[in-house]
Amino acid sequence: MTKHDIYEIFDKGGLLEKNFPGYEYREGQLLMAEMVRESYETNAISAIEAGTGIGKSFAYLAVALYNAMSSPDERTVIATSTINLQKQLYEKDIPMLFRYLGFSCKTALAVGRSNYVCILRFVQTRAEASLLSQDPMSELYQVGQWIKKAETGLFADYPSRLSFELRSEICCDGDLCPNHSCEYFKECFFFKAKAKAKEAKIIVSNHHLLFTDAQSRYISDVDYTEEMILPPFNRLIIDEAHNIESNATEYFTDEYDSREMLRQIHRIQRTGKYSSKSLLEQLGEYSTEVDIIDRIQDDIHLFMQEVGTLDQYLLAVFQKNDFQPVLIKVEQQGRLADFVKAAASVAEASGRLAAKINVFLEHNKAPEELDSKLAELKVRGTRISMMSEVLTRFCNFELWQDEVHWFNAESNNRDRNVQVRITPLSIAPLLVDALFTKLDTVVCTSATLDLSDQFAFWASRVGLPYDERRPFLKGIFLSPFDYQSHLMLLTPSDAPLPAKEMENPYIQYLAQTIFKAVHSAGGGSLVLFTSYVMLKQIKLMLASQFEQAGITLLAQGDLDRYTLLNRFIAEQDSTLFATSSFWEGVDAPGDTLRMVIIVKLPFTVPSDPVFKARCEAIDKSGGSGFYQLALQSATMKLKQGFGRLLRSTADRGVVLILDSRVVTKNYGVYMLRSLPESFHPETMTEGLCDKIENFLYG
Ligand code: SF4
Repeated sequence: MTKHDIYEIFDKGGLLEKNFPGYEYREGQLLMAEMVRESYETNAISAIEAGTGIGKSFAYLAVALYNAMSSPDERTVIATSTINLQKQLYEKDIPMLFRYLGFSCKTALAVGRSNYVCILRFVQTRAEASLLSQDPMSELYQVGQWIKKAETGLFADYPSRLSFELRSEICCDGDLCPNHSCEYFKECFFFKAKAKAKEAKIIVSNHHLLFTDAQSRYISDVDYTEEMILPPFNRLIIDEAHNIESNATEYFTDEYDSREMLRQIHRIQRTGKYSSKSLLEQLGEYSTEVDIIDRIQDDIHLFMQEVGTLDQYLLAVFQKNDFQPVLIKVEQQGRLADFVKAAASVAEASGRLAAKINVFLEHNKAPEELDSKLAELKVRGTRISMMSEVLTRFCNFELWQDEVHWFNAESNNRDRNVQVRITPLSIAPLLVDALFTKLDTVVCTSATLDLSDQFAFWASRVGLPYDERRPFLKGIFLSPFDYQSHLMLLTPSDAPLPAKEMENPYIQYLAQTIFKAVHSAGGGSLVLFTSYVMLKQIKLMLASQFEQAGITLLAQGDLDRYTLLNRFIAEQDSTLFATSSFWEGVDAPGDTLRMVIIVKLPFTVPSDPVFKARCEAIDKSGGSGFYQLALQSATMKLKQGFGRLLRSTADRGVVLILDSRVVTKNYGVYMLRSLPESFHPETMTEGLCDKIENFLYG
């Protein structure tokens, strides 16, 4: 593809303007496409910030498409962070662009295996729960009807919500799949999708699957010219690239999870809604080893006791720590004797259990139709051993490397479960070794990637540039939206400092100001909190006032994210209270969203162990964890929250930041400077409502 081709598509009077009704020429889009093209041509890595409204997906898709046509041996993988963008690219943007350009190539959607229904597991489950499967009201029956007509077999396409219990019984599981020898191989949704991906020249995937593929290649020493989880590919476009570090951190964290342990044990020895006999019961009669079932049951009993003891220890730690995650440092090993003892006992008990399971498997003469049950038993045993290995590694203090060791507790209404985790201190070496050095082109793009520092912060977190000889292109393409006249930023300088955030006067101030501001805007507001506790408290304080004012108040926690967003968009004057994940990915163009209120600057809580360890590592090396990580991460997030407001050229609205540090502290001023320049009149709380009303309706 040449520069000339780019201009032919994106320039004034180009293919898109000619064929796409309502298409508006955007210089930023053209320049971005040219940079992506150059990245392909020079085998470069590039970092591209494309402001909202640039049309970044068309910019990179056009290059990927031309490349597919001119270099049929090559393949581009596009990896997004969210399923929403993945779907939008595959279902909307790609077909639309291909139509307007008048040519196309084969494309495919690639998602993780567990997103597909496994026909074999469904059939087995149906056979075990034969009564239930005949009841038209049962979920199992309805899934059976769906499978008959399903095109993709993706749970996302199942027309209603599927219970976790059934989904985990019937999802594709690589460890349980006999591949070609499965009798349903030809109809298998997952393998059909895999075959389609092999044919495709552009694959739309996600960060998680990209890391799964990269890790498998790394471990098996297989390069990108061969098929692994994904087919061979040499060009990679990472969209929503601001999330690479957090997604990779999550992916590369090893974990012992007490609830997951119990789940594996239950699968071995218990019956369930969909199985009248446990695995042991189904296989036991074919064992040639005397008393083996009893011995396994004894080992399971002992193992559960040890897991329970470890749980008790960890829960006591969490109770002392207000159920916050706990960072464990190597200096503390002297105080961890009880933990080490309990963890070692779990590991030993799991070792004994795994050994018995192996004996059982070796001396079992089960008929062929029970092969899948034997395989499942083996998998359950292996998973228990693997989680126990995390405990062993955790307790081996001499071998601790550049990792973060921490305890986590999760709770829902009914119970709490505990996790012991090992997270890489930095994911940069992994990304460099497994991805950046191995691929011809890596384009990283997002609406939020640069902090007026030429990508220095973001790049340093992901290990770029790793070699000065490798071309590293950088491009910032500003949003075409008119922020100066369409967006008013209000930062009342008399807002109280949030240091003692749960104190009454501060909360009172927030509640009153939020209500008055939302009322002035007539609803249509997204209120972004940094803490769910605060969200709940303010919601409680304001619920009746919202009701009296006739403004629908939606809040995270009341409904799932998807339903909340749909209602917020459909009910034009509603207001949504939300936290973390809503700081990005909310796309509500038009009048639905007239105001974004940022309650507090989005600094990561210092109690987050991975974040804390990373800040400390920077401090230790002579830098400043606050300035080099905490401030930068918060600024990136603020930029994301700010970006929720204007989603189309015609949008107009107000961003209100109720944290006076943004104007009274030097670092606050730095944060403001990273936002697109907008109309920013000086203000006090007193005059807020008039300003909002005048700007929106004056
Ligand atoms: S091939 Fe594997 S994933 Fe597909 S239906 Fe058979 S067991 Fe399930």
